[in-house]
Amino acid sequence: MKRLIFATGNENKMKEIRMILADCGYEILSMKEAGIDVDIVEDGKTFEENAAIKATAIAKIAGCVVLADDSGLEVDAMDKAPGIYSARWQGEDTPYTIKNQMIIDNLKDVPEEKRTARFVCAIAAAFPDGRVETRRGTIEGVIAHEIAGENGFGYDPIFYVPEYGKTTAELSPEEKNEISHRGKALRMIREVL
Ligand code: IMP
Repeated sequence: MKRLIFATGNENKMKEIRMILADCGYEILSMKEAGIDVDIVEDGKTFEENAAIKATAIAKIAGCVVLADDSGLEVDAMDKAPGIYSARWQGEDTPYTIKNQMIIDNLKDVPEEKRTARFVCAIAAAFPDGRVETRRGTIEGVIAHEIAGENGFGYDPIFYVPEYGKTTAELSPEEKNEISHRGKALRMIREVL
């Protein structure tokens, strides 16, 4: 079977990826399983650029199809911050309980209808012949007034999805995969493989 590497060290993401890309005709390997250990500087200006930088650099080393993603939270009332800097925002090692409370505090005088936000995920597929395809998935929501939920990670406890009446940290992993930015981008990239 043809091999495909997904450029992430995150085990949760690998689980989600294996579920969504099952039956795509490729054996799916993590970086670790492929024996690749490189640090790539993500200096792009968009989610798509960063995903493409990562996928292309690793495809050159690996010689097979490589998928890479870049994702983050855009808060409209904060000029779409933290955006592509979501992991680094307020310091990579700062706990999300603090980062999430800072966003809630930032929005304390913002009217309800302007508390809109979205998770964005760009996935790039880099092929051995140099071709690169990118796809973007998003999920729209609003910033909650309080932290809620134990599932997920990162900004999930403040990302409230009105249709579900819950934050994404209150959804089960299966429910989140169905509607998430990453789930949507993965299902789109499956079509180009
Ligand atoms: P990366 O794409 O793994 O670099 O993720 C960037 C950052 O965006 C993460 O560290 C989180 O802060 C945030 N993020 C991306 N996707 C999600 C999500 O599904 N839930 C919560 N936070 C997310």
